[in-house]
Amino acid sequence: MLGLMQSQPLLISSLIEFAERHHGDAEIVSRRVEGDLHRYTYKDVAHRARRVANALDGLKLAFSDRVATLAWNGYRHLELYYGVSGSGRVLHTINPRLHPDQIAWIANHAEDQVLCFDLSFLPLVQAVHARCPTIKHYIALCDSDKLPADSGIPNLQSYESWVGAQAADYAWPVFDENTASSMCYTSGTTGNPKAALYSHRSSTLHAYAAALPDVMCISARDAILPVVPMFHVNAWGIPYSAALTGAKLVFPGPALDGKSVYELIEAEKVTYAAGVPTVWQMLLTHMKPAGLKFSTLRRTVIGGSACPPAMINAFREDYGVEVLHAWGMTEMSPLGTLCTLKNKHDALPDTEKMKIRLKQGRALYGVDMKIVGPDGKELPWDGKVFGDLYVKGPWVVREYFKGEGGDPLVDGWFPTGDVGTIDPDGYLQITDRSKDVIKSGGEWISSIDVENIAVAHPAVAMAACIGVAHPKWDERPIIAVVKKPGMDVTRDELLRFYDGKTAKWQIPDDVVFVDAIPLGATGKMLKTRLREQLKDYKLPQA
Ligand code: AMP
Repeated sequence: MLGLMQSQPLLISSLIEFAERHHGDAEIVSRRVEGDLHRYTYKDVAHRARRVANALDGLKLAFSDRVATLAWNGYRHLELYYGVSGSGRVLHTINPRLHPDQIAWIANHAEDQVLCFDLSFLPLVQAVHARCPTIKHYIALCDSDKLPADSGIPNLQSYESWVGAQAADYAWPVFDENTASSMCYTSGTTGNPKAALYSHRSSTLHAYAAALPDVMCISARDAILPVVPMFHVNAWGIPYSAALTGAKLVFPGPALDGKSVYELIEAEKVTYAAGVPTVWQMLLTHMKPAGLKFSTLRRTVIGGSACPPAMINAFREDYGVEVLHAWGMTEMSPLGTLCTLKNKHDALPDTEKMKIRLKQGRALYGVDMKIVGPDGKELPWDGKVFGDLYVKGPWVVREYFKGEGGDPLVDGWFPTGDVGTIDPDGYLQITDRSKDVIKSGGEWISSIDVENIAVAHPAVAMAACIGVAHPKWDERPIIAVVKKPGMDVTRDELLRFYDGKTAKWQIPDDVVFVDAIPLGATGKMLKTRLREQLKDYKLPQA
């Protein structure tokens, strides 16, 4: 038919080209592994990303070959985001917190050809390289004079000498937008990890949606601090959304402690930050005793695990920072829902608004969701009935890399493994991972609700709720608690703290004090391991 719009593939290279042309002087500031601050602009990123593309051509890498990274959030990692994907190769970001055996397994499964790594991970690379036969080239993300001598790693060169030798002109190739651009292995707690393979189209559409006002609300006037790592689901797509809007980017490098993050926020006038609750806990713990305040920070996206109400309150009331609670997963690029209020909520009293803010939020355009019962039938959106959460959309996984695990979809929908409710306004509330749900006397108890109350106690640093077998009720909840250093609370005091905050039968039967709760590579609590640790535990009254 005559009169149609132009057809132009949505390619990741177009994001950095746009940023170079329209926001060429917007800054990218990075705290480096060396400890100093590095600053330059989108124009520089674009130049150096083209050099990366030339350097990859120089290594004779084929289209769709995988280039792996073991790196913190920083400017060189950003150049790889654009240079690798833009030239048609696949950026494989590896989580350095994984066990070396898992890293070697993943690199082999992905058939990585090149590994680019921050010098902090040199010992890790030394431990695994002999087991990674597909990797032909090792690039240390450093200046040439910092390249370690006698590292024992074959074909090792410094990033600066590798890209420095290249020309800065390069015509980004144009190809099908459904080509793979990057990949991330899931942090699955059972079985081998499986990789979600993102495409140019899915990443670009996700970047567009993420920037919307009711989603992450990213604009050219923002200075964004992604504390969420670039090795985990593309730092929630922020490196792409920032280029698409021209926002300033501030990268924390390896320094994720409260003091370093606070100082960076203040020095770089950060308006907007994103990360998992554990990082923000470290920041608040640093700020509170010193009476520190933020001068520019206005909003923070918190997701990856449930954000406790105490944290939302502290940010809002003590620091004037709005918390945007988000839910997503590796298989969803990752954004699924984000919590912002609607106009009609303006008139509600604060306590009612707070109940909404605690939810994981509304689906963004591009994500369809539904909850289903054990019979596979869709459940109503009444905010009460729990069900297994299913999603679909253009940035939701269709199948895993190499078809691992078979067809994951059920009638075209991806089963998230999460359980939740959806209210009549479309707000999702996650109650549990399906395997963590506690069933007591036929009723479900949300472990997230039980944990949220415990962490609101001033002496509690972290809490994990698990179900244990009970002769009468099948299962009862108990709560494992890590106390804050120098603070104390007894079992009975903590149990009394639940009075009036939840129904009596949802109060845990016991408190177990532990030194630490096992965490996975992305900072989530590993309840499978906690259950193993507590396998000899017996309920007091059972
Ligand atoms: P990952 O793929 O490692 O990012 O993990 C995704 C999983 O993290 C989801 O399926 C949820 O179980 C959990 N998750 C992510 N965001 C939230 C949130 N805001 N509240 C509760 N759980 C969350």
